[in-house]
Amino acid sequence: MQTVRFEELNISEPILKAVVDMGFEVASPIQASAIPVILSGKDIVGQAQTGTGKTAAFGIPLLQLIDPKNKQLQAVILCPTRELAIQVADEIRKLGKFLHGIKVLPIYGGQEISKQIRSLKAGTQVVIGTPGRVMDHMRRKTVKFDDVKMIVLDEADEMLNMGFREDIETILKDVPEERQTVLFSATMPKPIMDIARTYQKNAEIIKVVKKELTVPKIEQYYYEVNAKNKEEVLCRLLDIYNPKLSLVFCNTKRQVDELVSALQGRGYFADGLHGDLKQQQRDRVMNSFRNGKTEILVATDVAARGIDVDDVEAVFNYDVPQDDEYYVHRIGRTGRAGRTGRAFNLVVGKEVYKLRDIQKYCKTKIIAQPIPSVNDVTAVKAEKILERVTNMIQSEDLSKMIDIIEARVNAEDFTSLDVAAAFLKMAMGEDNGQSEEKASYEDYGDTGAEEGMVRLFINIGKKQNTRPGDILGAIAGETGMPGKLIGSIDMYDKYTFVEVPREYASEVIQVMKDAKIKGKSINIEPANRK
Ligand code: AMP
Repeated sequence: MQTVRFEELNISEPILKAVVDMGFEVASPIQASAIPVILSGKDIVGQAQTGTGKTAAFGIPLLQLIDPKNKQLQAVILCPTRELAIQVADEIRKLGKFLHGIKVLPIYGGQEISKQIRSLKAGTQVVIGTPGRVMDHMRRKTVKFDDVKMIVLDEADEMLNMGFREDIETILKDVPEERQTVLFSATMPKPIMDIARTYQKNAEIIKVVKKELTVPKIEQYYYEVNAKNKEEVLCRLLDIYNPKLSLVFCNTKRQVDELVSALQGRGYFADGLHGDLKQQQRDRVMNSFRNGKTEILVATDVAARGIDVDDVEAVFNYDVPQDDEYYVHRIGRTGRAGRTGRAFNLVVGKEVYKLRDIQKYCKTKIIAQPIPSVNDVTAVKAEKILERVTNMIQSEDLSKMIDIIEARVNAEDFTSLDVAAAFLKMAMGEDNGQSEEKASYEDYGDTGAEEGMVRLFINIGKKQNTRPGDILGAIAGETGMPGKLIGSIDMYDKYTFVEVPREYASEVIQVMKDAKIKGKSINIEPANRK
């Protein structure tokens, strides 16, 4: 497995700082291959999927090309969908966090064009847009390509599938010829190569060279989850399978730290391993894992490299790995020395394609599984305790205990079955109660909202001089949830109904309970459908 540090890639200081801030440990394979070539000014055709780190692969050299003093448009990134445009803009903003004077703007259909025009006029150097909307601005002359030095076609195959070929060609013809053209695509069908031939200059084809990979024969599963529920799903899997030792892989150092705190907070014996640890700390963590004091080791790929522990029963890919080879290395940590092992993958949204890629290249089978419910977890926990109970009944003298229980049952109005049930509940511990509370919290019943949304009631309305924009602004501002995800807002004189995506509902309620709108404390709760 190659390790290229960002410091080796001739990246400017402020971007390096941002990369550290984002918790990236080493460059992903596509970054290691593409960044030096793009920085040298060459056109490239990069073959990479979502989840490989491709955005930063073109985003870093792109940011280095921008002159912050020039307020004209200098780089254009074309994306197939508004979701991707927003995502790419977010990633570029994060990478450019310590660069001053660079403005990045996503432009896509469905958003008010006048707002985009205002932002463009205010001096935007990087535009990330869908081809249709970029064409629209070209027609209106609200974008000028005179100073554009780089154009990126992101997910080019997707754009062609969606029928954007003509639009893309029109845009490419309009951008100055001496520009650099960077094309990324997951697949390389003929139409993509045609575009490369026509609109690029001696493009270098960059793909991550794949080695022959031998996947260990262990059971591999995946679970499609919401980003917000990853932690909960991981805990349910840990509870159900109860592995003695497990390794959990994350893609960034930051994620390792966050997950370790979360797991420790829930009472698991977890610790973390990543490149920022000193040798001494690393040794302490490893010793503790080896002797079983730490049951769950959370690590990045690089940090986990030296781990030589044989009895790891389960590997969890909390983040889908950025490279097929990483996958093989990760899951190879279990099922060693002839033992059985299992690998679990948590997959969010489009990452499922990355996983398919891994399956294809590694010629392995990763089986989809439903997310275990709280009831499943309870049943498994109860089963384990009852097994111990059976053993005890068979092997020990319980006559004294029987006398005590009998006396109690005779004195009170309950049965020995009630007593047994109460003991079972106690033995199952508190964390079980917590997850049950969480699950019921998520079950809002029918609030009358659209599919996938929850309708919330807020006790503030028009009479309090409030407008829908205030509600939207307050929710987006307080929770950090993108405003565009907020659904319909129905405002009445004294109260308002607002719809938010189901996965954000509990957070919105939690955060907004203590927030103020227009200086007034509010009450917020799921709406009751009458
Ligand atoms: P992408 O393939 O661009 O969609 O990136 C997928 C995810 O990987 C994003 O959340 C990135 O922030 C993250 N990422 C990009 N480069 C790295 C890296 N070198 N190490 C860890 N995570 C990364």
